[in-house]
Amino acid sequence: AEVTTALNAWLEIDLDALEANVRTLKALLGPVELIAVVKANAYGAGAAVVAPALEAAGVDRFAVVWPHEGYLLRQAGVTRPILVLGHAFPADATQAVRSRLTLTCHSRPLADALSAAAVEAGAPAAMHIKVDTGLHRFGNELEEAIALAEYCRTLPGIIVEGLMTHMANADEADDSFSEEQHRRFEAAARALPWIPYLHTANSATALRRPGFRYSGVRIGLALHGELPANTPGPELRQVLALRARLARVSRVAPGEGVSYGLTWRATRPTRAGLVPIGYADGWRRSLTNAGEVLVAGRRCPMIGRVCMDQFLADVTDVPGAEEGTVVTLLGADGADRITATEAARLAGTIAWDLLAGLSGRLPRIYH
Ligand code: PLP
Repeated sequence: AEVTTALNAWLEIDLDALEANVRTLKALLGPVELIAVVKANAYGAGAAVVAPALEAAGVDRFAVVWPHEGYLLRQAGVTRPILVLGHAFPADATQAVRSRLTLTCHSRPLADALSAAAVEAGAPAAMHIKVDTGLHRFGNELEEAIALAEYCRTLPGIIVEGLMTHMANADEADDSFSEEQHRRFEAAARALPWIPYLHTANSATALRRPGFRYSGVRIGLALHGELPANTPGPELRQVLALRARLARVSRVAPGEGVSYGLTWRATRPTRAGLVPIGYADGWRRSLTNAGEVLVAGRRCPMIGRVCMDQFLADVTDVPGAEEGTVVTLLGADGADRITATEAARLAGTIAWDLLAGLSGRLPRIYH
């Protein structure tokens, strides 16, 4: 869509691309539910708009990490089940029941509180149990998970709907530990055959290991059109573009330096374009003298340190670059494009980190 306001920098979220990715992934993954992982503000894209769009596109369920993220999804009008993957306190039970959140139950006190809240509300509360099969992050160890599930089964008002785990090495070149985790998960599933809904897969696991898809797959990154490392996948469309307009083009004589510390010095007469976005916006300081941007379809190197609100790019080879010229940091410009995976690599991190770190200051434009 045409940007008509004079924004310095903004995010564009292509809802058609998002919908196309849902369709592509559903066709490829087959008859399992697609659980859209929209934690961390839908990986920076803006959960309040993205989640309803995903729901309209046919996503079956949503997953977040904090109960609070689930309340915000309900406020945004999401009607499908919302699974809270992370920790909740017993004090969250009443609001969780009111908001129809499916909590991951890790303790008897939480189960008791959920049961009481569900009975009080006169509405059953679904919950899932997470088996720690080797990541040693959130969840319960195998025996504990089985005992907890059997305990929860006896409580009024509670439906033990799901059993899940999360892989440690999903996108590693050697993901053989996933097989061990799968064996441990299967042991829990065999001990709890009455739990109807099983899930273990993120984007990488879902795409690499069809046998681990079970009832539903928890897809985050792939919805945005990026694929995890070592993961073959379908053609997906990039959802998010990050753009800015040049604030100034200055001349830098050979030998002169730019930005704090003068860490980059010109070796030829240089035109330095000032891009009004910085690490406060999530455009990482580690991209200093490392990143690239697109101007008029051409790659331009980032020069000098990234500051809080601005950085410089060498636009010498783009003669028309001037104040107001659009700079693409993520997304397509002409025949070229920069993915979050590429920018993250140059920043020394991963696409999830880069996307989730895009700050609230950036206006988000949906089209
Ligand atoms: N499941 C869990 C438990 C997660 O923590 C995450 C994200 O980190 C996902 C699924 C989604 O992962 P991805 O974005 O790689 O699809």
